[in-house]
Amino acid sequence: MRKKIVAGNWKMNKTFTEAEELLAYIAESIEKETPCEVVTCPPAVYLEMATDFAMESNLLVGAQNVSQFEGGAYTGEISAAMLDSIDVNYCIVGHSERRKYFHETDEMLAQKVNILLDYGINPIFCCGEQLGEREKEIHFGVVRSQLQNGLFHLNESEFHNVVIAYEPVWAIGTGRTASPEQAQEMHGFIRSLVTEKYGKKVADDTTILYGGSCNAGNARELFSQEDVDGGLIGGASLKGEEFIKIVNSF
Ligand code: PEP
Repeated sequence: MRKKIVAGNWKMNKTFTEAEELLAYIAESIEKETPCEVVTCPPAVYLEMATDFAMESNLLVGAQNVSQFEGGAYTGEISAAMLDSIDVNYCIVGHSERRKYFHETDEMLAQKVNILLDYGINPIFCCGEQLGEREKEIHFGVVRSQLQNGLFHLNESEFHNVVIAYEPVWAIGTGRTASPEQAQEMHGFIRSLVTEKYGKKVADDTTILYGGSCNAGNARELFSQEDVDGGLIGGASLKGEEFIKIVNSF
C-alpha cells in the first residue's frame, strides 16, 4: 500500500536546545493517530537525540545525507552503517542543495542509494528541474534522466523501499510553490516512468512527495492531488505548530 509521508528537512538549522525543544514538540503532538508517517531529518549531530524521541513516540527519523563509501579514511563523512547503528529510518539523497554546492553526481547518488538499501535505510530520493529548464520546457526530460541515473538500476524489491521527492529547484526556499496542477502533472509523469520500469503494482505503491515552499497554507491543496502522497518540507518544518498543521493536511 502506498504510504503518505510528511518529512521535515531541517537543513543546517537549530542549536542543541532548539533541536531538543522542536523534537519534543513534534513527538508529543503526534502521540495520537496521525494521517501519515511523520519523519524528521535534523542535522547529523542531533540524529541520536531524534532516535531517542522516536523510541518513545510515532516519530520516524531521517538523515540529510550519507557517504557513498562503506567506511574508513573519509574525514567528515557519516556512513550508512553508523546511521543504521542508531536506528535511522530514512535518508534524503540528492537534494538539490547537495547537487549544487557539493557537486553530487548521479553516479554518487546511485552509490548512496545502494549503500542505504544494504543497511535497510529507506532513501528519500530528490529530483527536480531548475527554473531555466522549466522555461525551456525540458523539465520532464531532466527528471526522467535523474531517476534513470540515480534509481532505475535497482531491482523491483530494492525499489520498493525508495521514496521519491519531486522538488522543483525554483520552488525551494523561494516562497514560490508549484501550483497543485504543476505538481500533479510531474507526479503523474514520475508515476508513469515507474510504471514503465517496474509495472503498475509497484508504481501504485510508490510514495511521491512534493517539496518546495510547501506550508500550512498550501499543503492541503497540494496533498489532495491524486499523485501527491505528502511533502518534503524545508523552512516550514522548523516551526513546530506549522509543521504539525502540515502533517494534518490530508
Ligand atoms: C527542501 O529543502 O527540501 C524544501 C522543500 O525547502 P522549502 O520547503 O524551504 O522550500
